[in-house]
Amino acid sequence: MKYDTIIIGGGPGGALSAGILAQKGHKVLVIEAGSINRYKVCSGGTPLRSIKLLSILGNPLKIVEREIKGVNIFIDENEVISAKKDEVIGYSYYRSVLDQWIRDKAQDYGAEIVYNTVAKRIYIDKYGVKVKCDHKGLLKEYEGELLIGAFGIRADLLLQLGLKPSEYLISFQSEFVGDIENLDDNIKHSFNFIVDSRYSTYSYGWIFPKKEGLSIGITDRMEGEKATLRFKAFLKDNIIVAKQIKGLKILPIYNREFLAHLNPNKPLDKTYGKRFVVIGDAAGFADPITWEGIYFSLKSGEIAAKVFDILLTNKNFSEKGTKLYEKEWKKEFGKIFNVEWAVKQILWGKDLEKKWITVAKFFKSNIKRYELLQKGLTEHMSIAPVIKQMSTLDKLRIGFKLKGYKLLKNPVNFIHIFRTLL
Ligand SMILES: Cc1cc2nc3c(=O)[nH]c(=O)nc-3n(C[C@H](O)[C@H](O)[C@H](O)COP(=O)(O)OP(=O)(O)OC[C@H]3O[C@@H](n4cnc5c(N)ncnc54)[C@H](O)[C@@H]3O)c2cc1C
Repeated sequence: MKYDTIIIGGGPGGALSAGILAQKGHKVLVIEAGSINRYKVCSGGTPLRSIKLLSILGNPLKIVEREIKGVNIFIDENEVISAKKDEVIGYSYYRSVLDQWIRDKAQDYGAEIVYNTVAKRIYIDKYGVKVKCDHKGLLKEYEGELLIGAFGIRADLLLQLGLKPSEYLISFQSEFVGDIENLDDNIKHSFNFIVDSRYSTYSYGWIFPKKEGLSIGITDRMEGEKATLRFKAFLKDNIIVAKQIKGLKILPIYNREFLAHLNPNKPLDKTYGKRFVVIGDAAGFADPITWEGIYFSLKSGEIAAKVFDILLTNKNFSEKGTKLYEKEWKKEFGKIFNVEWAVKQILWGKDLEKKWITVAKFFKSNIKRYELLQKGLTEHMSIAPVIKQMSTLDKLRIGFKLKGYKLLKNPVNFIHIFRTLL
């Protein structure tokens, strides 16, 4: 049997695109390496824009772990950027549950899903797509017209498709379980970010609350063994973390207490080819500042499904056809990535706390500015809309306060960054 679309990977993006294509009457197969309810190392922080996309398949609120009403950025004991709302701004999930919900919905709409099946080789020619898989030691082969690569971070599969893998960072996370009702209200209903350069100069640590527990982690550049030790020290020595985990236990997942996973740091140079596109982490999509990835996986999955619906209807299997996908995602979030990438060049790195304190003081010194920042954090979980709405003068002010004079030593970099931001 020949499928209209084969999707490798049943994470949020792959499963949503499967559901949408099935809703439109196409024959879809999802090849998933993991088993039913497989765990994904992730804190499951899901703002409302992701809920809107999930709602294409049904009501995802029944499986929520916790309602989120605020965002905290802890810089040091005295400096916190806090943004809160009376209403819910997002939710937290366990990805084992969320991803299974999306896959089940896709299946209800008619998508076929094979579990415990690892795609090993992809062949594409003028007749279609062929995927050779390993299913518990047995060789399985599937054929289709088009392919969506939704396999997360798998450099080997990207190389088979002729694509160059992205840059990656590494995250560590532990799942703490126990009663968290006695924690500060501000913490247990917020996405909490922790700036602490002892453990990460390129990113941050975080505490995301669940119904009965906390997902706690840290992201930074890859530095092999040292990174695990740093994460253990972060759990022990960071004052905010140490306070929250008193009385909680680490829940081992697949017999491991400290779980590692990569995050993409940049979109791929190219995200399509003849008869295929790549989406989500596979395409290198994650917010350059927060590394939020679920939304971009879902959104790129939705865009891929819409484009494939057109291509399948018109029997257009040319590379010109799949190129439309790249045009569409760039229109949707390409600019956000560029703006946030430019901010990241200024903000992360050396003197992290000093720079964040400068940011906090700058925004807090003017009530309107601070409200703008709080709105950006609670409504969009992103810095890009804040930058967009700041006056040119304010952008220059904060830019120079943070790094302007250093940037002036490198005029090309300076012009590029400020052109992107202004
Ligand atoms: C520690 C950590 C915390 C994070 N926290 C958040 C957060 O709170 N909020 C947020 O928005 N983002 C978060 N992210 C990012 C988010 O987890 C990813 O961006 C998101 O999972 C990407 O979804 P995806 O569908 O593209 O890939 P994935 O979720 O990785 O799904 C890929 C799927 O493909 C399957 N697969 C892989 N290879 C094969 C193969 N060869 N054959 C068949 N199947 C295969 C895998 O089993 C998997 O099910 C976090 C990331 C990390 C590492």
